[in-house]
Amino acid sequence: MPWPRFRGKRNDPAAAFDQPRGETPPPGMPASARPVRRASDSPEASRLAQLRQRRALVDFDLEQAEAATRPDNPWQERIVLLGESLASVDRDLAALGALPVEPPLPLPPTPITDIAASVAEPASVRFTIGNERFLFEEETDWDQRGGPRIEGDLQQRTGNAEALIPATIPPERRPALARHLTDSVIVFAVDLRDRALNSEPLPESASLADLSQPCPECGGWRDWRGTCEVCAQRNWQGQQLRAERSRLEAERLQEEQDRHKWAERLPIARRRVADIDAEIAKLGDAP
Ligand SMILES: [Zn+2]
Repeated sequence: MPWPRFRGKRNDPAAAFDQPRGETPPPGMPASARPVRRASDSPEASRLAQLRQRRALVDFDLEQAEAATRPDNPWQERIVLLGESLASVDRDLAALGALPVEPPLPLPPTPITDIAASVAEPASVRFTIGNERFLFEEETDWDQRGGPRIEGDLQQRTGNAEALIPATIPPERRPALARHLTDSVIVFAVDLRDRALNSEPLPESASLADLSQPCPECGGWRDWRGTCEVCAQRNWQGQQLRAERSRLEAERLQEEQDRHKWAERLPIARRRVADIDAEIAKLGDAP
């Protein structure tokens, strides 16, 4: 307790408030029966009540400021937790950056034949790779209220991309290649549909190799448009982690600034408490 000379009054604040000087309750009347607003009857008492209210507000400031100067303060606890989260994000980022690059596995230049695209409704796209005949059709979507047709997604009707995987591909790489080829034929089909819609010429020569160029970044494959889905996914994860890192760092800085701000207020808070206590004491001692 920094202010021992006021302790007596502070520990019994109701006494001075409820029983202003010279106003003792009539004998035999229970305390609860007294008029509740009696305290505000005298200007001194209402001033005292006001001071006590201010004292409670300033007390909160003082407690915060004192806490901020202790080594085990709540800001520091949160800073430690944020530091642990940051370390975890850094580990994830490092792991993402250290993913092994697979050896490149180019696919044979099996030509893509019978390429055709029609914009008649429903729009359709077809092509053949090896023994697989691919057919995509646009879903005919109608607006709920019977309005104009909404351009739908291409739906694959025939063709199995997985069947295009050469027997020479090692078993451990086949699932990833199957995923890539399944997506890659769709990317190719969408490009054909878009070319037809824009009255652009269809590709004259394209091959299975064009749908699965080795990606130098990860050792996977790039699609017809040159996008590697694995790298795109990793880049997205990296962006998320870096955004999370910035957020955590900003939060940590804010905690430190808050702690500093409160610690700096300690002398002011102490002086305000002392000033108010002095005023309360003066009122209490008034004749
Ligand atoms: Zn890649």
